[in-house]
Amino acid sequence: SFQSSGTSDQPGDRLLGGLLSPGFDDGSCLSRYGSFSYRRPSPNNPSAYLISRLRNYESLHKRCGPNSKPYKEALEALRSGSAVGYGECKYVVWISFSGLGNRILTLTSSFLYALLTNRVLLIDQGKDMMDLFCEPFPDESWLLSKDFPVTDQFDSLGQSSPNCHGHLLKNNMINSTEKRMPSYLYLHLAHDYNDHDKMFFCDEDQKVMEKVPWLIIKSDNYFIPSLFLMPSFEQELFNLFPHKEAIFHHLGRYLFHPSNHVWGLITRYFDSYLARADERIGIQIRTLDGGDGPLSYVMDQIIACTQNEEILPKVDQHGTVSSSPSEDTRLKAVLVTSLNLGYSDNLKNLYWMYPTVTGEVVGVYQASHEGYQQTEKPLHNLKAWAEMYLLSLSDVLVTSSWSTFGYVAQGLGGLKPWILVKPENRTTPNPPCGRAMSMEPCFHAPPFYDCKAKRGIDTGVVVPHVRHCEDMSWGLKVV
Ligand code: GDP
Repeated sequence: SFQSSGTSDQPGDRLLGGLLSPGFDDGSCLSRYGSFSYRRPSPNNPSAYLISRLRNYESLHKRCGPNSKPYKEALEALRSGSAVGYGECKYVVWISFSGLGNRILTLTSSFLYALLTNRVLLIDQGKDMMDLFCEPFPDESWLLSKDFPVTDQFDSLGQSSPNCHGHLLKNNMINSTEKRMPSYLYLHLAHDYNDHDKMFFCDEDQKVMEKVPWLIIKSDNYFIPSLFLMPSFEQELFNLFPHKEAIFHHLGRYLFHPSNHVWGLITRYFDSYLARADERIGIQIRTLDGGDGPLSYVMDQIIACTQNEEILPKVDQHGTVSSSPSEDTRLKAVLVTSLNLGYSDNLKNLYWMYPTVTGEVVGVYQASHEGYQQTEKPLHNLKAWAEMYLLSLSDVLVTSSWSTFGYVAQGLGGLKPWILVKPENRTTPNPPCGRAMSMEPCFHAPPFYDCKAKRGIDTGVVVPHVRHCEDMSWGLKVV
């Protein structure tokens, strides 16, 4: 394969600075130890403490995984309905829910929560998780066993389910002095959650959950920023992530290794169209306004942003030939991702019709144009994952507001993107884009509650490292 321009060939890099365990066989998952030759060097290394906590987690996962005795014991407790005698291991179960970008972010949040609470993360296989990702932990699977007794209720679990934490709170059916704890709690952390569900983010409620062997999470949000506001987790998070803005960057590269099928899609595309470029630019276009694209005000926005910020060269509308065609003409490769083909078509045409004022040549590529979100179609999600990953291999990234698809790309790539401002009234915003403060994803539905004072507060101004997002004024992100 081609080496991308910025990589070094230190042998340590194949483990991403110690993030990955060396104990896997290569063939079952080519991306795991192969990704480093495609990636730019990381902006910062994982801390020694994070690395040691990950290795400890891996032994815990091995000891408690779905083939272990403690797992069988915990399943027995689950079947009996009581937390009594569940054995030595406790679990977080992640339910597959929402679009792929959302799923990657909630899985990361759930994993960090499991790490903080010494639990083992197991995942709902959903429809296609196995086709998309390799196993992240050595020796033991992260997939729930087929006989998990609650699986057939995953779809119907909601805020009024009998074991829903918020529901139990609302009806005063759970507290820290309770003797008989349920064997599982359902934690509803989706965007429509209510004030009771949000008590998940209070230390006192966490104390209650400690006694419950199974916590089952359904979420479509990156909820890590609010964990930083909890005194019980804050210090540990500082220790794990001295570079606070690299949480998803490290955990995402630790957890999400494209399956061999997806890795084939990624590497063939990269090697064919992007590898030889002097600079790679990713442009992620996600329009939420509806209507058949391409939308002219979004097209104008893309051109204005990339040219104002000197991401792409301007063209000479009166020119016919490039100024100094030579051996060392710089090649910029632009990867556009969008459900619609029109934006990249327009851009491609612009750089075909006119020479650039800088003399650079610009190639424009788009891997797929799926038309609309078709989560049920197997190849659709494989393409979405491949495209998020390809975007993450860019040198410069432009993303759309509000999109978790873009957050995944920026985080894996360690990139602070230029964010296209969300258009209002179907007009091109001015300025068209702004630089992100950090590469972290935005939590779109954070709680605004002070657990101690028991009143509402603005959680975006409590500490300097958790702020409101650039693209969503009520969202929270770590900076
Ligand atoms: P979000 O809705 O932008 O936050 O991102 P999600 O990934 O959660 O959901 C959007 C879904 O729409 C993706 O998972 C894909 O299924 C599809 N999708 C959106 N944009 C693209 C794109 O540029 N390429 C591909 N292949 N799929 C896309």
